This record gives sequence, C-alpha cells and structure tokens, in this order.
Amino acid sequence: MPDASTARTALVTGASRGIGAAIARSLARDGWRVGVNYRSDRDGAESVVAGIKGEGGQAVALAADVTEAGAANELFGALESHFDGPVLALVNNAGINRDNITASLDDEDWDAVLETDLTAAFRLTRRALRTMLRARAGRIVNISSVVGLRANAGQPNYAAAKAGLIALTKTSAVEVARRGVTINAVAPGLIDTEFIAEVPKDVIDAIPARRTGTPEEVAACVRFLTSEEASYVTGAVLTVDGGLAA
Ligand code: NDP
Repeated sequence: MPDASTARTALVTGASRGIGAAIARSLARDGWRVGVNYRSDRDGAESVVAGIKGEGGQAVALAADVTEAGAANELFGALESHFDGPVLALVNNAGINRDNITASLDDEDWDAVLETDLTAAFRLTRRALRTMLRARAGRIVNISSVVGLRANAGQPNYAAAKAGLIALTKTSAVEVARRGVTINAVAPGLIDTEFIAEVPKDVIDAIPARRTGTPEEVAACVRFLTSEEASYVTGAVLTVDGGLAA
C-alpha cells in the first residue's frame, strides 16, 4: 500500500455493494483514496469504507443519486475537499435494469435506465474531465455489459444504455487521448450479485466457462485499467464474461 502522501483519489459510483464495492476495495489496495458513492444503502457503503480502512486504506462514503443534475458537481466537490486533491480516476459503475420486451416497455422504465446507466455517466465524465485535462492525467472506466455488444431479448432499454456507454467511451477517449487521460469500458457477462436473479442452468450452459463471474474478477480488470501500466490502453472494451461474447 503506497503511503498517504502519494495516494491519488478515485470515485466509484454505486459502490455500496456488488461489483462497485469490489472495485472500491481493489482500487484502495492499489493505493487509491476512494470515494464510495451510494444512493440509498448507507450501511452497505459504510461497511465497504470500514473494510478498506481496516486494511490500511483510505475511503469515504458519499451519498448521491447520480441521476440528479447536480450530482456530479456535488460528488467531485465533496471528494476533492475531503481528500484535498484532484479526482484522477472515475469508475461509472452505478446501474439499474427494468426489464421488459420492447413491445411492452413503458416510457418510465426506458427513461429510468437511460438516465442511470448512460446520462449520469456522461455528466460525471464531463465533470471529471475538467479536472483530469488540467492535470494531464486521469483514468475513466465505464461499466458496460455484454448486452451492449450482443442482443438479449427483454432488455431493450438496458442494451441501448450499455451500447451507448460504449459509444461514449470510444468517442470521449479519442477526444482526450493526447492529454494523458484514458477512457475504457469493461463489459461484464453474468456476475454473481443482487443485480441478477437466480441464473437458470440453460443460461449457465450457454457460457463457455460454464459459471457466473465474481465481482472481484471484474474489479481486477478495472484495477488494471486505472493503473500506470494501462497508459496506452484507451477507447477499449474489455469483456469479462467467461467467453459469452466471443
Ligand atoms: P447491484 O444492483 O448489486 O448494485 C448497484 C449499485 O448501484 C448499488 O450500489 C446502488 O446503490 C447503485 N445505484 C443504483 N442506482 C443509483 C443511482 N441512481 N445513484 C447512485 N447509485 C446508484 O449491481 P451490480 O453490482 O451487479 O452491477 C454494477 C454495474 O455492473 C451496473 O452498471 C450493472 O449494469 C453492471 N453489470 C452487472 C452485471 C451482473 O451480472 N451483475 C453484468 C453486466 C453489467 P444503492 O443500493 O445505494 O441504491
């Protein structure tokens, strides 16, 4: 663990449980001071922070609904003043699903998923770049999905949001590549969290690895993409899916 004077600050959205919590822990082990964002699960976020501190890392829980227009400014302001330094890594992980087939999906469920999974990531990216472009350094990782790469009946809103997130990743990555900032996407397959219901056997059988993934397996990829070693990786989509999208 690097000492506090060399630590940099990272923000992970939706980090109170599941994949976001695993990413927060992993980045803290890599020496990042981590902002653990949550919407409603304060106990979850505080327990992630306590776990990080218990391992000698630094973290703070930050409440914010990322769909609120002012959330990006509030989160960055709170985190930068708490750790007294610029936020040089952003992981857009917060996400929801509201599944239905296209013929039956209502406007409310379309809008909710697009707002959380795509628009919020855009606003946070825009705010992050203000700091990162000035610093000529930064890492942004967007948590997309294999569903953004290949069809999955019953998830038109989620697929559109996650495919849009990949398009945002590639476009913003080329815009800032000269300035020392990298922007990449990770596309998980079926990962064992509260997000997915019990997975039927035929679905598992369709995964070449014949199992679901773990949040830690996704976090390891995010950890790499935020590291110095990944400095020439930008605009990429890294699938973490046991071969599902291959
Ligand atoms: P979980 O449902 O377990 O966790 C979601 C997290 O997002 C929670 O911390 C929740 O916070 C937070 N969140 C939701 N809405 C908001 C909001 N408006 N503002 C702030 N935080 C919010 O999901 P996973 O860990 O499984 O998924 C994480 C990401 O990975 C998502 O983007 C998801 O789409 C993606 N993904 C997941 C896969 C899987 O199989 N699990 C596969 C592919 C992609 P709170 O509880 O406080 O509301």
